[in-house]
Amino acid sequence: MGQILIKNAYIVTMNAKNQVYTNGSILVEDDQIIAVGKVDHQLVKNTAETINAEGKYVLPGFVNTHVHTSQQLGRGLGDDVDLLTWLHQRIWPYESNLTEEDSYISTLLCSLEQIRAGVTSFAEPGGQFVSGMVKAVSEAGLRAKLAKSVMDCGEGLPKIWQRNTQEELDQQEDDFKKYHNTADGRVQIWFGLRTIFNNSDDLIIKSKALADKYHVGLHMHVAEVKDEIDYTMEVYGEPTVTHLNRLGVLDKNFLAVHTVWLTDEEVSLFRDKQVKVSHNPAAAMRVLGFAKIPKMLKEGICVTIGTDGAPSSNRMDMVDELWLTSLIHKGWRLDPTVMKAEEILQMATKNGAQALLDEDLYGSLEVGKKADLIVINPNSASMLPLHDPIANLVTSMHSSNVESTLCNGKWLMKERIIQTLNEADILKEAKARAAAIYKRAGIDLPDRFPTITF
Ligand SMILES: [Zn+2]
Repeated sequence: MGQILIKNAYIVTMNAKNQVYTNGSILVEDDQIIAVGKVDHQLVKNTAETINAEGKYVLPGFVNTHVHTSQQLGRGLGDDVDLLTWLHQRIWPYESNLTEEDSYISTLLCSLEQIRAGVTSFAEPGGQFVSGMVKAVSEAGLRAKLAKSVMDCGEGLPKIWQRNTQEELDQQEDDFKKYHNTADGRVQIWFGLRTIFNNSDDLIIKSKALADKYHVGLHMHVAEVKDEIDYTMEVYGEPTVTHLNRLGVLDKNFLAVHTVWLTDEEVSLFRDKQVKVSHNPAAAMRVLGFAKIPKMLKEGICVTIGTDGAPSSNRMDMVDELWLTSLIHKGWRLDPTVMKAEEILQMATKNGAQALLDEDLYGSLEVGKKADLIVINPNSASMLPLHDPIANLVTSMHSSNVESTLCNGKWLMKERIIQTLNEADILKEAKARAAAIYKRAGIDLPDRFPTITF
């Protein structure tokens, strides 16, 4: 791959001191950063690709800690409906009618959106076909923690999903053995748990044991909606997080998503057990509620940002989620001083890397780390001027300002052109497949306006 030298940039390192370099340079060799800040010219080979980034930013690639790549073809299936309609009449029929090839195309479409928004690494909580997702992520050039969507109990599940605990565990272990650390180590397999509604205690405990055995993470939707707490109070006599703690699964490698309905004691449990949190503000505002994110950050909990799935928020755009994270908590707390821009950038970079158990690999621009970075061009009517350049990254940047995305030393997007995938072909295939799934699943959305078809 050789060397890439980016010079004259405003470099936001996100290192331990959060240092920023003006007029800085960064030198990449193969998949690693070998110099950052002031680069010794003797290190630069004359074959190096040189990029003049004057007036532009360089940041670590964003880490999206919760994204359902297999739901991308279901975008628009869940608007303006309550959660149970969303789940039973839209999402389950959609997902249970996906084929392996659909999952592959869905993940490719989602990968395009991730790359365009500056994401270089993500965690997917579980689709039905890990094989399809692995193929797509390998080709896209991204990093990902992939899992199977695992369910062993609960009412109303589509027939093809009715599996017992051991079958679900075996399938996950099988996926792990086949796909973990493939694509130059970019693809890793994690263990997934859907929700407490569909996961028995036995499955939860054994999935955690497997995650520990293989030194990877466990990804679960936790305390998403009020109904979930009503359910766990009725069935277990305690709220979700208290119950998970009783099962002994709260730990450093536990990635808890949404985490809206937690008591203060449960927030303390997260802190004590070093649980990682994925905050998905768009999905939260739409249906879930307001998570205690400012309190969690104050307690020192590793809070990160995710987009959730396309039918949950319709925008799989991390840049939008950064902006929403800055707004949502100021609003409900009636306190404009909470959730500062610099905290939000940490959530989307180094906290994300830490939550994915990869803090030694990426999340900051430092010598020896993987070359996962993005170039931001702020020269647009919507982003200039830059009186407060760090705040602008959160408050006025759009994903269209992300000019180039580099992952593992390879350009995934350069000057807005996708390098690893054929974008036009994927868009065409995605439209055709989405229409076919919609028909196969028997979903029939009502017309919103009187529609006359010519
Ligand atoms: Zn989710």
